[in-house]
Amino acid sequence: MMTYKISEECFACGACLPECPTEAIAEGPIYVIHPAKCIDCGACAAVCPVDAPKPE
Ligand code: SF4
Ligand code: SF4
Repeated sequence: MMTYKISEECFACGACLPECPTEAIAEGPIYVIHPAKCIDCGACAAVCPVDAPKPE
């Protein structure tokens, strides 16, 4: 399955975290998506101000 991955553009604003239905996103200096938990819904990308989560 395709998953989303957060790029280096992430500035750790936290906006995506509560939007993820599967709690796939972990906090950090750059937020990280756990590929096994991501269901490719795009909710994180929709709220990210810098479009850091990208499908891959
Ligand atoms: S695409 Fe959906 S499931 Fe995957 S990390 Fe983003 S919000 Fe979570
Ligand atoms: S919304 Fe975008 S910039 Fe903010 S923490 Fe998530 S990926 Fe990073």
